[in-house]
Amino acid sequence: MKRRISLDCDGVIADVESFFIEYYKDYFGNSVPQDFIQACYNGKLEKYVQKENIDFNIIKDFFKEYEADLFLSLPKLQIISGAKEGIKEITRKGIEIIVNSYRPSKYMDITQDTEKITEDWFERNGIYVPIHLAENKQEKCNNIKDEIYYCHVDDDPIILKQLPISRIKPILLNSHYKQPEEKYLQFHSWTGLTEFLTGKKNV
Ligand SMILES: [Mg+2]
Repeated sequence: MKRRISLDCDGVIADVESFFIEYYKDYFGNSVPQDFIQACYNGKLEKYVQKENIDFNIIKDFFKEYEADLFLSLPKLQIISGAKEGIKEITRKGIEIIVNSYRPSKYMDITQDTEKITEDWFERNGIYVPIHLAENKQEKCNNIKDEIYYCHVDDDPIILKQLPISRIKPILLNSHYKQPEEKYLQFHSWTGLTEFLTGKKNV
């Protein structure tokens, strides 16, 4: 049987991190401190704010605007370096790729056709793979569980935790800013991920 793999979109194919870094710079007028990104990713924002003596309301307002603008900016997201080439190489090896992601069609009071936006985005970036789009995290996990995949690649360890590990190999594409998750096979870039998935390198 053809080997089939599942990929997340945001954080694995679409570059949300660069959007965040640029958004922070536009909003505050200075580059985002590395400690701030690390604190966001690792659930230590409250500690960071206390340590730096920052008014937490300023950060709350920032995230409220950021999340709404990210939702509206989905068509403008850049592609993660190496993703397009990696997907091509994996497909060339005869491995089937399906994107399993979630992008709600409504955020706060804003509604969008996220399915159409996502399909157009993939086409514009020259990636032609089937996309299964869910409305929320739970639905996404169920979509993955319902199919037979060799692995699922995600940047969110919470999603990986919810998968039936005996059947689907969980792989973490982890940002440099995030703490390592020893539990999962992880890569920091598409180079290593592609080598592993195409069988060039065993881990
Ligand atoms: Mg993601």
